[in-house]
Amino acid sequence: MKALAKTQARPGIWATQVPTPVPGPNDLLIRVQQSSICGTDMHIYNWDAWAQRTVPVPMVTGHEYMGVVAGMGNEVRGFELGDRVSGEGHITCGHCRNCRAGRRHLCRNTQGVGVNRPGSFAEYLVIPAFNAFKLPADIPDDIASIFDPFGNAVHTALQFDLVGEDVLITGAGPIGCMAAAIARHVGARNVVVTDINDYRLDLARRMGATCAVNVAREDLWEVAQGLGMTEGFDVGLEMSGSGPAFAQMVDVMNNGGKVALLGIPAGEVKIDWDAVIFKMLTIRGIYGREMFETWYKMAALIQSGLDLTPVITHRFGIDDFQKGFDAMLSGQSGKVILKW
Ligand code: NAD
Ligand code: ZN
Repeated sequence: MKALAKTQARPGIWATQVPTPVPGPNDLLIRVQQSSICGTDMHIYNWDAWAQRTVPVPMVTGHEYMGVVAGMGNEVRGFELGDRVSGEGHITCGHCRNCRAGRRHLCRNTQGVGVNRPGSFAEYLVIPAFNAFKLPADIPDDIASIFDPFGNAVHTALQFDLVGEDVLITGAGPIGCMAAAIARHVGARNVVVTDINDYRLDLARRMGATCAVNVAREDLWEVAQGLGMTEGFDVGLEMSGSGPAFAQMVDVMNNGGKVALLGIPAGEVKIDWDAVIFKMLTIRGIYGREMFETWYKMAALIQSGLDLTPVITHRFGIDDFQKGFDAMLSGQSGKVILKW
């Protein structure tokens, strides 16, 4: 079958032929219809230090997708051939303490689809049936194919009560933009999004941000005061991985503020511990998606009218995959979908 793989230990990704995977007794074989490009895929594309120490070569990459069930192992229950599915990309061990307690997102032995095992930039994908999420009929294919990063946004944004709160989101990447839409949808008062990229700030506005601030040019606290905020932000969602963004967030949180950290810093980040302590901030790290409560909430949010369509900015056929990666590299994109 056709696949996009890391076949060489250098920057780039290449179209190649690999054997069609065979499902084990508890697995689904999924015919991939659409797969979107994640920031993680760009780390692998760029072959940065993290990718070099994490990803074995060759590796079929990609983990954000939707498709239909095309085969299954003989132990699988609850799925039919032709079911539309997306899937949780974190394959958990099932036997560690957290897995056995139902806290699968805290598994110590997580494997990543398209990172440590073959991924979704392929005609066919095999995953444990446990990881598959059957898509309700009213979830469009495009939205279904970005459920994985949407899940990061949902998991992070719903950590803390947002109703009536003033929310700061640092980073208007696809996940920050989706988080802005979620925060508005569930009843936040002000949703302020920061970035240093005007294209993305514009995207954040289209996704429902009350205000999108270019922190390279504008003073965030002045903007917040202009919105009538006098005491600081109640909830912070860090979605840039940038040290300066996190420092700025700590600075503008109100006393007792709550911060969820999704963004992954490239190196060490300084923290103003005095501010954390004297403001009594709550800071929580966020990884992945909750299995599978986040997935049910994602479907329910779309079914209750949350509109994510503006975040999808590019669609390409699979033979034009390089154009998709180039769009991601340019910084002038939201989600980029590849259609198989
Ligand atoms: P992205 O890289 O597309 O977006 C990050 C944005 O932050 C960019 O638009 C960038 O311009 C902006 N930024 C840079 N410096 C900034 C600053 N000083 N202030 C404000 N914004 C700034 O990333 P994404 O795909 O939207 O993902 C968001 C983050 O979440 C990334 O760091 C990603 O690695 C991380 N992530 C974490 C998990 C997890 O499980 N914890 C899962 C997925 C993604
Ligand atoms: Zn486990």
